[in-house]
Formats: sequence, C-alpha cells, structure tokens
Amino acid sequence: MISVDGLVRTYGDFTAIDNVSFKIGQGEIVGLLGHNGAGKTTIMKMLTGFLEPTDGSITVDGLDINREREAIQRKIGYLPENCPVYPEMTVIDYLNYAAALHGVSETERLSRVREAIAKTELSGKATQLINTLSRGYRQRVGVAQSLLHHPDILILDEPTNGLDPSQVQHMRDLIREVAQHATVILSTHILQEVQAICDRVIIIRAGKKVMDSRMEELRSAHRLLVTVQAEPGKVDAALKEVAVVQSVEQLANDDNRQSYALEFRDQAEPQQCAPAVASALLGQGCALYAMQPEQRTLESIFLETAAQ
Ligand code: ATP
Repeated sequence: MISVDGLVRTYGDFTAIDNVSFKIGQGEIVGLLGHNGAGKTTIMKMLTGFLEPTDGSITVDGLDINREREAIQRKIGYLPENCPVYPEMTVIDYLNYAAALHGVSETERLSRVREAIAKTELSGKATQLINTLSRGYRQRVGVAQSLLHHPDILILDEPTNGLDPSQVQHMRDLIREVAQHATVILSTHILQEVQAICDRVIIIRAGKKVMDSRMEELRSAHRLLVTVQAEPGKVDAALKEVAVVQSVEQLANDDNRQSYALEFRDQAEPQQCAPAVASALLGQGCALYAMQPEQRTLESIFLETAAQ
C-alpha cells in the first residue's frame, strides 16, 4: 500500500534521511521510533507530501508522490508534530473549517464534524475556544481534524507528546479504534508507546533505518537462560552432549551459582531444547536452579541498535 524506496533528504550539506526503504501494508500500526533529531518528522513530512524528497520514491496505492501528490493527500490524515490548531476559533468552527479544507462537501460537513467530535470525546468542549483547552484536548482536536475526510492512512507525529498519563491512555485507545479502519503510522521517541500500540516498529537512527520488525518477532526469544550450581567442567561436559547447542555465553556468577545463555542451531526454539539441556545437566550432576527463554525487550533492542 505504502512503498518507500531509497528515500533521501538533505538540508544543504546535511543528510537528514539516508537511503530509507520500507513497505507498509493495509491496516498495520507502525511505529517510527528514534531519538530526537533521528529524522522521524522529516520522513512523515515527505510521506504526507509536505516536503520533497531529495532522492528516492514514495508511492501510495500505486500513486507517485511527485506526480499525484493531491490524490495521495486525500487518502491521508495527518497530525503534525506541533498540531497547528487555530487558537481563536471554537472547536466546532475549526473542525468545520478543516472539513472544508479536506474537501468534505457542505452537505456532509456537519455529520463528519459530529462523528469526529464523538470519536475523540470532545462533545463537552465543542463550543469552547481552542486556546482555553488543555494540551491533551488540543491534541484531540488535532486528531479529530485528521479524521474528518475518512482517510485510509493516518500519520501521527508524536501523538502523545506532552500528555498526562490518563490523556495518553485515551489517545492510545483512540489510535487503536481508528486503526480498525485505517493504516496508522505514528512517530515517537518513547519505547513504551510502540510496545503499547504498534504491531511493527521501524527504528530510525541518524537518518538511517536500523531495524524493521514485527513486534511478535522482537518478543520471541532466541536464547535459553540457565542457572546451575556445578563443579568446574561439568556444565561444559553436559552441554557438549546436546548437539543442538550452538554457543554458550557465561553470564554472572552469583551465590556459587553460574548462569549461561545458550543459543541453538537452525533457529531451534529454546523451549523445545530445554528438556535435552536439563537432562544433560542433571546427568552430569549439576544442580539446576532456573531455566527460561530470554525475554528481549524493545528497550534492549533499541540499545543494541544504538551501539551499532
Ligand atoms: P524530534 O523527535 O526531535 O522531532 P525527529 O526524529 O522528528 O526529531 P527531524 O525533525 O526529522 O527529527 O530532524 C532530523 C534532522 O534534520 C535533525 O538533525 C534536524 O536538526 C534536521 N532538520 C530538520 N529540519 C531541518 C531544516 N529545515 N533545516 C536544516 N536541518 C533540519
């Protein structure tokens, strides 16, 4: 549905986006994750047609952003980073105006505005001036604005930035609800945000894509962690008996117990290899204290990519 190929954006001599490619299918919720300045906003501005790529291509449903920008923009709802809502307008007047800008016909405008207000739970604030709203409510107005033309794709730049915990929760629920009918791409520098909402993460670091993975693949463990108490040489001897063990990393020693992380050949599942490992260790007289698949967190992966 969305295809980005070899995307480059320079500002003078500075390369802000460096050869980034990805594809996003219909209905996915994708998080663009990166530190401040990584290039998330620059990518989003190019996806929404507000910034020209220096090189590379962006297509949406086969339409090319250089040739059919307006057709693409009609498919997209966009919440920019510092949501530019008009402070001196009331919520309802602003949304009515935004609906006109989105090309919603006059006859449909009122019903679309009502629908967006209901979705974002703004009905209690509909006649209030935007400059009297809290940041969380202003953010909701920004999201309401992005939904008015029933976009197939929603692009949200840091949608929970600056919100308090209950507002964050509300925004997450709203994004999940919208995602039932649309593809959602959101940017964030908050790991928990991606964990809470997204089914896929693209990590951007210094303008480059350093990881693109589905969340369930990230969570799936590759190593088995084992804690034993054993005489020298016994663990080595035991693990040599288990042909599927590919490598052994010694972790911390604690209270006379030794911990190891085992990797297996042919991407064998740690859980499936656990009985053979346990029986070999017990056979060598090792006391087995703990055995569990390693849990990789998004945080550890983020740190791994930062260290590359
Ligand atoms: P943040 O989370 O802080 O919004 P980001 O990941 O969205 O960061 P971008 O705003 O895309 O990052 O910026 C990427 C890089 O490009 C940064 O180093 C930024 O300073 C630089 N940059 C962005 N816009 C311009 C511009 N108009 N002129 C020069 N450099 C720019």
